[in-house]
Amino acid sequence: MQQSVILPSGEQVPALGQGTWHMGERSSERTDEVAALKAGLDEGLSLIDTAEMYGDGGAERVVAQAIAGRRAEVFLISKVFPWNASQAGVISACERSLSRLGTDHLDLYLLHWRGGEPLANTVAGFQDLQRAGKIRYWGVSNLDADDIRALWQAPGGQDCATNQLLYHLNERGIEWNIQPLLRERGIPVMAYCPLGQGNLLQDPRLAGFAERYGMTAAQAALAWLLDQKDVIVIPKTRSPRRVAENRGALEVSFTDQQRAELNELFPPPQGPRPLAIV
Ligand code: NAP
Repeated sequence: MQQSVILPSGEQVPALGQGTWHMGERSSERTDEVAALKAGLDEGLSLIDTAEMYGDGGAERVVAQAIAGRRAEVFLISKVFPWNASQAGVISACERSLSRLGTDHLDLYLLHWRGGEPLANTVAGFQDLQRAGKIRYWGVSNLDADDIRALWQAPGGQDCATNQLLYHLNERGIEWNIQPLLRERGIPVMAYCPLGQGNLLQDPRLAGFAERYGMTAAQAALAWLLDQKDVIVIPKTRSPRRVAENRGALEVSFTDQQRAELNELFPPPQGPRPLAIV
């Protein structure tokens, strides 16, 4: 599998990173969460996705602990709530995130989903943050094809670095109209819930495939996404053992026959569907 994905700027980022949703919610789990993220960094999974939403800022604090002393190794992503996404609001929200994360800049800052704020205002806030050196790139999440077209109409809207979307073997709707639109501009998809929040791993179709080919279900699910060259994948786990297992997806290489088999088991969309989100 390819180890990295190219952003529209030409910069390469790790294709396999780490998610953090539900981290920072319970102090009893903090040690495991920090250990898992550190184990991921040791394995080269140095792209970390978090958000002001997760654990009400708690996940960003967990990330701060995990990356302390290692900031330069990390491609750090956070997200702003849509109700904080006015031009001024985005700046204040980012400053709060930076303070919780114990860093002076984000590598990528995403609009978590589209709310009532005109996209042009959010982009203007992102541009202010870029000029101030507080973020390097900006992007979006949960934007459907019409939203993306609207974004591209906004001044500077074409500088979007990624769209973070729900995408896994059993949820392939974005392939119909969103992914092709992004591909036209060389914008990678960042696949969230790549394991279907763990539920996909219980699917007998996937379990059977994984067993036939000597990999785990998680590795098969992640490898299918990583096989696509322009998809960044951010599974979440608070187990260092599972981090190593998930990292193993980078060692998988599929034959055309295996790809065809997965397409048969998990068919691509045959028409447009409303954007799926969690
Ligand atoms: P996910 O990564 O698909 O699945 C996470 C679940 O799978 C956890 O319950 C985890 O349990 C389990 N798991 C992980 N590796 C495993 C393995 N090898 N074997 C068995 N179980 C395993 O779901 P997600 O966390 O919802 O999505 C990933 C990341 O995407 C999030 O953490 C977040 O950063 C981002 N996200 C973004 C949005 C958005 O709106 N932009 C929405 C959802 C998620 P343990 O932790 O107990 O191992």
